[in-house]
Amino acid sequence: MPKTYLLLGGNLGDRLSYLAQAREGLAKQVGGILRSSGIYETAAWGKTDQPAFLNQVLEMQTELQPAQLLQRINNLEQELGRVRLEHWGARVIDIDILFYEDIVLQSQRLTIPHPQLHLRRFTLLPLAELVPDRMHPVLGKTVAGLLAACPDALEVREIREGS
Ligand code: ADP
Ligand code: MG
Repeated sequence: MPKTYLLLGGNLGDRLSYLAQAREGLAKQVGGILRSSGIYETAAWGKTDQPAFLNQVLEMQTELQPAQLLQRINNLEQELGRVRLEHWGARVIDIDILFYEDIVLQSQRLTIPHPQLHLRRFTLLPLAELVPDRMHPVLGKTVAGLLAACPDALEVREIREGS
């Protein structure tokens, strides 16, 4: 069954509870969660006048094709009450597709691997915890290599261990 890596993030309300609700919803609507990274806290990226984010990466298996996967993810974000206020703005839950097998895909709605994956420490750190040796199919570097080369200076600290 295809494997995909998803990034969960949120910076409003009970952040740990929203992450837990997202995991629960994904397990029901997307597929099995094989492994979860730790939970990391980061100062807000892009717009800095807002609360700090929590982030977590999940390794999942799914029967869904990428477009269907995005659809389910968007539905779940809506269900969990995400209010789309502004780009990079505050939100209760954001779910991004980082990798889907070794697929390279670029459409108006969906880019895989995620276009900002290699630029953000808060993505690379939890991803490297799960798959340090995984090769980025476009950039030709491993996740650990991308992390080592990442210019993002925002501090990311683990607040809870993964499983
Ligand atoms: P961001 O994740 O950049 O903070 P949004 O969550 O609002 O912003 O995403 C905006 C749009 O990005 C989504 O509606 C979706 O169509 C698109 N998108 C493109 N590639 C991806 C991806 N790999 N994972 C999730 N969304 C993606
Ligand atoms: Mg998103």
